[in-house]
Amino acid sequence: MLLQGKTAIITGATRGIGHAIAVRFAKEGCDVAFCGRTRNDQMVAVEQELTALGVKAKGYAYDVADYDSAQAFVKEALADFGKVDILVNNAGITDDAAVKRMTEEQFNRVMHTNLGSVFCMTKAIQPSMWKQGHGSIVNIGSVVGVAGNYNQANYAASKAAILGFSKSCAKEFAARNIRVNVVCPGFIETEMTAEVPKELMNTWCQRIPMKRPGTTDEVAQACVFLASDMCPYITSVMLPVCGGMEDA
Ligand code: NAP
Repeated sequence: MLLQGKTAIITGATRGIGHAIAVRFAKEGCDVAFCGRTRNDQMVAVEQELTALGVKAKGYAYDVADYDSAQAFVKEALADFGKVDILVNNAGITDDAAVKRMTEEQFNRVMHTNLGSVFCMTKAIQPSMWKQGHGSIVNIGSVVGVAGNYNQANYAASKAAILGFSKSCAKEFAARNIRVNVVCPGFIETEMTAEVPKELMNTWCQRIPMKRPGTTDEVAQACVFLASDMCPYITSVMLPVCGGMEDA
């Protein structure tokens, strides 16, 4: 098992890609502290699902885009688990509109959640990783952060900023053996995309050389690789998981 004996914090793991990362990490022997904004049935179900895979798992209700909340989350997870080897910053939102119609509130909310959460969680985890002399931080970006997209200028800007932030952290933390990398999913099948009409889905897939959307587990597997000891000399990279989309 690739993550045996390790502990990970995964943000936004109550559903979607974060959930798949948590399950895949647990299957690789990793203890998992994860969060969503509220403690609901979904969070309890994920906790039970991960525990049934034979690892220690706990869900926490914290808003990771809030500085104090992120600090409290990491403090509690460190107290419960004793150490954290891996941080996956997955929590993210969209609030789409053409720039012509996008409000300042829409722009700020997406930037604050997607980029702010990565900053807040990195700040919170950095002291313990620095002290222990190792760590792997995997930030979830998007191909949209590289290529841009219609109606997603706020989202694309937040994901592009995550790349710059990650590369800067990679430089600052490298001497303490803390690696920082970014996984950039393309078009991934989630509950959200399940509502997209079949015809529209087919049109989107035509633009993907592999002619299909990716799965959440395919994103999770890339995260396992970057989080694991299989790549101790890989830091500051951007790994697209997008079926070969051209401008990624
Ligand atoms: P999703 O299904 O909407 O799940 C988002 C998760 O993040 C939920 O667990 C949500 O939990 C949590 N969350 C959101 N804001 C939070 C906050 N402030 N504090 C704590 N938790 C928060 O999203 P997804 O489609 O799986 O996407 C996951 C990540 O992959 C995002 O960063 C997204 O930008 C990126 N991505 C997705 C795709 C795609 O095709 N789906 C493609 C490229 C990149 P609560 O609602 O309970 O708070």
